[in-house]
Amino acid sequence: MDETRFAEKTTTYLRDLAERSEAIRKMYFFDPEFEDVPADIGRDLLNEKVNSPLFGTVRKFDGRLLVLLSYTCAANCRYCERQDRVGVGLDRVGRLAPRQVDAVVDYVANDPSLYEVIASGGDPLINPKGLERLFTSLSRVEHVKVLRIHTRFPLQSPERVDMALMERLAATKSTVYFSLHIDHPDELTPQVLAVIRDLRRCGFILISQSVFLKGVNDDIDTLQRMFTELFQLGVRPYYIYHCQRIQTTERFEMDLAEEVRIMSALRERLSGLAFPQHVIDLPSARGKVLVPSHHWDWDPAKVRDFDDSSLSTATWQILPTS
Ligand SMILES: *Cc1c(COP(=O)(O)O)cnc(C)c1O
Ligand code: SF4
Repeated sequence: MDETRFAEKTTTYLRDLAERSEAIRKMYFFDPEFEDVPADIGRDLLNEKVNSPLFGTVRKFDGRLLVLLSYTCAANCRYCERQDRVGVGLDRVGRLAPRQVDAVVDYVANDPSLYEVIASGGDPLINPKGLERLFTSLSRVEHVKVLRIHTRFPLQSPERVDMALMERLAATKSTVYFSLHIDHPDELTPQVLAVIRDLRRCGFILISQSVFLKGVNDDIDTLQRMFTELFQLGVRPYYIYHCQRIQTTERFEMDLAEEVRIMSALRERLSGLAFPQHVIDLPSARGKVLVPSHHWDWDPAKVRDFDDSSLSTATWQILPTS
């Protein structure tokens, strides 16, 4: 296979699960019909590369810094919005080195406006030493009040989650959020449920993030099942995103109007605590932009940024086609 292509990468656990789940197969298995193109490593879909004050960081929103601790994941999701970096091209080593982590800590320590640091990637759990170094150092930075981990690792390789490390990470600040990226209820296997229970015991505040995916989770019943199960497990659904369009992910992208229809129906069925915010990540916006529901009349052509300036629709083409 062309080495600049976004490689198929799965785990023994996922291959086993895929035998029983079509959703897992669609999420993880390379599809030559749609993906026979090289990953575009020059691309900057979400303006993340131009908003990187130092290596391994993204700073787009007030008060919060994203730290990309690895450019690798336990498995590659076919709809990954960072597939120009994850597992290809930019960083063969795949992990932020200790001295680079220390540079991030210095940067944060010198900027009192930063109150939250978010460990992301790739997957931060692929760089456990870097993650622990980052969090341990930041535990001593007074103005950083909240730490957050964004990961999909527990759903890709639940048997490899290092619970002793998780306990130490949860203790680094009084408030540490742990966000699970989950897209289908089939991912909530007995092994995953056990990990979630253990993570709760560590003291994390558990939240989830999801992506609307055509052919995977684009129906009300599937999402109702997933959000209800998460809520009952003590995982608060936080965000559900519109899938970012790139050449290789078009088959997953839903019509925004259809997403709004599904979210509006879910709002009528779910506990408020089980209902996530429906958002779009726009390249130039200063935050994730909330999508209104059917319960309002609204014009999707009029989208405003947080400072009241209008966002250019030229950089995103998600308007309902009808
Ligand atoms: C999503 C994201 C965050 C976190 O945003 P929240 O709305 O606080 O969850 C921070 N920085 C960047 C660059 C992001 O993409
Ligand atoms: S886990 Fe996240 S970063 Fe990794 S391939 Fe999947 S979507 Fe991309």
